[in-house]
Amino acid sequence: MLKLYNTLTREKSEFKPLDKNGKVVKIYTCGPTVYNYASIGNMRAYIFMDMLRKVLKYNGYKLDHVMNITDVGHLTSDADEGEDKMAKSAKEQHKSVYEIAKMYTDAFLKDIDRLNISRPEHIVKATDHIKEMEEYVKEIVDNGYGYETSKGIYFDTSKLSSYGELSRIDLKNQKSGARVEVDEEKRNPLDFALWIKAPKEHIMKWDSKWGLCYPGWHIECSAMSRKYLGDEFDIHTGGVDHIPIHHENEIAQSKGATGKNLAKIWMHVEFLLIDNGKMSKSLHNVYTLDDLQARGIEPLAYRYFTYSSHYRNKLNFTWEGVKSAQIALNRLRELTLKHKGIDTKIDEEKIKELENRFVEAINDDINMPLAMSVVWEIAREQVKSNMYYDLLKKFDSILSLEIDKEVSNDVEEYSDEIKEILNSRKIARENKDFNESDRLRDKLKELGYIVIDSKEGQKLKKV
Ligand code: AMP
Ligand code: ZN
Repeated sequence: MLKLYNTLTREKSEFKPLDKNGKVVKIYTCGPTVYNYASIGNMRAYIFMDMLRKVLKYNGYKLDHVMNITDVGHLTSDADEGEDKMAKSAKEQHKSVYEIAKMYTDAFLKDIDRLNISRPEHIVKATDHIKEMEEYVKEIVDNGYGYETSKGIYFDTSKLSSYGELSRIDLKNQKSGARVEVDEEKRNPLDFALWIKAPKEHIMKWDSKWGLCYPGWHIECSAMSRKYLGDEFDIHTGGVDHIPIHHENEIAQSKGATGKNLAKIWMHVEFLLIDNGKMSKSLHNVYTLDDLQARGIEPLAYRYFTYSSHYRNKLNFTWEGVKSAQIALNRLRELTLKHKGIDTKIDEEKIKELENRFVEAINDDINMPLAMSVVWEIAREQVKSNMYYDLLKKFDSILSLEIDKEVSNDVEEYSDEIKEILNSRKIARENKDFNESDRLRDKLKELGYIVIDSKEGQKLKKV
């Protein structure tokens, strides 16, 4: 029996799909905003998405899964204020917003491939669904939940008695609380923009019933999930930061348009911390998979690292921790390979019991720390047998760690100087400063290394 935790009910309960035949599970995942490289924090959310997919598949379900790509800039503040993230990035990099979107979408897809995250059945871009969003806003307004101001179309949260049900917001406290009311035209402080009238200088804008506009942040997910999955589907996923605003507002929009809560189960991944604190640009700790690789950590070692904590708990990243994860993954692969091709018969009952314990762990709201303890127990079995190898390979359909990969010796600890050169070269290449990149290549050669630019980033070989 598969049990999943639902943020909406705050309960873990048996999963039953809405599908009449009980076969297909419909899922929606809030995808990345493509104005920058995805951090390893973002990647924790997508590794979770992939674990959910694979656990459902292991249980025999078929998937119909949508993930959006937010290629329309939403504003830097949740309160519909601040700068447009996409436009800001485009300006900084002297590129068009469309170039920025393409560049970072490609980088994101490359990242999920490197982590063995399988792609959802539909990966859909916000800019391809502007008409659907406008239609959605019209429905909300026609149903009496939206109103127009000089700035745009807003959702009237006072019209929805259940507003706040996901985060269990205390509306009264919010209204009288510290939040500064900036927009006099809004009827309620928590009202949010559905459709925004574009100022002259705004780059991304589309002609609509209300003139040149661009969509609010939340409407894309309501409109795109409905288009591909219908008014109601099984599971909606995202990070915990989405609970109080983005997902609350998606629910409000869907209730305003269709009268229904779009998803039956809402699942949220807790945050990755860095050295027990926040990841932030000012602290220079917004690490990417490339940063890990530059220090000899393969993406799958990061994936392994995320299994050390349940997805609903915070996970603390340290360089020491991820290095240990790399060592542990190498060891796990070595132990797995020791079972390969060994013709010893193990009692079927024992194999069944081990599989049951693994399945019980993953089916208990995807309890990876517990599941990994069973994996290690099998890998460490003193008696070597191909039956254990087959079992570990079967589990790897979920784990996706390439558990029987030969451990190569090129995972090496480089000196700080080399790491620094690799990092500078990565930045130079991102900025298309090829002269600098070549200069650093020569410098590495002087230090005894040839650098190879591969799909997985920079790799070093001894001269
Ligand atoms: P964004 O591109 O900012 O919309 O984020 C993409 C996804 O990553 C969302 O589901 C976020 O909730 C999630 N996310 C952002 N930062 C972290 C973090 N530090 N740890 C885990 N998930 C995160
Ligand atoms: Zn969303």
